[in-house]
Parts: sequence; structure tokens; C-alpha cells
Amino acid sequence: MRLILFGPPGAGKGTQASALVDRYGIVHISTGDIFRENVGNETELGRTAKQYMDAGDLVPDEVVIAMVDDRLRQDDARQGFLLDGFPRTVAQVEALDEIVAAQGHTLDAVIRLIVDDDELVARLLQRARDQGRSDDTREVIANRLVNYRAETEPAVAAYRERGILRDVDGEGDVTDVRERVLAAVSEAEDS
Ligand code: ADP
Repeated sequence: MRLILFGPPGAGKGTQASALVDRYGIVHISTGDIFRENVGNETELGRTAKQYMDAGDLVPDEVVIAMVDDRLRQDDARQGFLLDGFPRTVAQVEALDEIVAAQGHTLDAVIRLIVDDDELVARLLQRARDQGRSDDTREVIANRLVNYRAETEPAVAAYRERGILRDVDGEGDVTDVRERVLAAVSEAEDS
């Protein structure tokens, strides 16, 4: 199973990703988590990524693509994966196409969580209070949403044109959203 989970910041990608990887026994690859881990460990990749992340800007394509290419070559990703936070630009979509094709596979499903902007901002500000993530400030959140609209929506559109995108309502109870996400993936699997 090879899945992509899209959604604006605060849409609940991380939460829903856990349910999907449990269900399908695949690895969860979150580019945001990998960057945060590198920032925490003060690696060179972390130092590069941090300046962009703290501003709510996207890390340059070549940096992210090289990192994901490397991750997808690891043994545990051979049997399937869920990508969360990647691809985020049209260039990343194209790079992923090449990586997946080179491994002789195709994507099984692309899911997008839909959540209203006001709800997103409220959730992110709440997360800022709970977890203190350095990019969850009002200003940086606004920039992340702008970048999502400008850079990531065209990437989503590429999958819509291929007819493999499924939109899922991401508002309401976490368990209800989970049921909808699992149902959407299983429909995609059957189609
Ligand atoms: P969000 O809550 O904004 O969806 P993530 O945890 O997925 O956050 O990512 C945090 C930050 O990491 C992003 O704002 C961006 O700076 C960087 N990042 C993560 N994935 C990518 C990517 N695919 N391309 C560029 N930058 C990325």
C-alpha cells in the first residue's frame, strides 16, 4: 500500500496517519517529523531546515526530495508507505513519480483532509499552547497557510487530474474522521 495524505497545517494529518499505518502495516514518513528530529539532533540538515520552518516557508525542493528519496530506499519502505507532508510542490510530485516508478510501483490512494481555515487556526493556536511548536505562532501559521494554497494546492490538483484524489471531511470527532479516512482508502483500493 502506497499512500499520500494531504491537508493544510492543522488538518490532523499526523493523527490520521497513525490510524492508516496501523491498519495497513506500512511505514509513516512525515517530512515535518524528520526535519524536527534533525533540528533536535542539530544535524546539518536540521540547521538548513530550521531557518525555513521557523518562518513557515517551505524547505527547498532539492533538500526535501533528496531526503525522501533516501528514506524510500530503506528496506522498511519497500513494502509500502504513507507519506505525510510530501509532496508539497509540483516539483515534488514529479520527483515522487520517478522514485515510485523506478521501484516498479504506483500510488494506491491520495487522501486530502478538508478543514475550514478558521478551524485550522484555532487548532494550531491550541497546539501552540499544548506543545509549544516553534512554528505555531499566529504570524507563522498565516504564512504556512499561504504557502499551502500557493504551492501545495497545485500539487493536489495534479492528483485530482489523474482521478486518484479523494477528499475527506476532516472536521468533527477524531474517530469519525478516522472512519471516513479508512473508508476512502479502502474504496480506492477496490477501484
Ligand atoms: P504542517 O503542520 O505545516 O503541515 P509539517 O510538520 O508537515 O507541518 O512541516 C513543518 C515544516 O517543515 C513546514 O512548514 C516546512 O517548513 C517543512 N517541510 C515539511 N515537509 C516539507 C516539504 N515536503 N517541502 C518543503 N518543506 C517541508
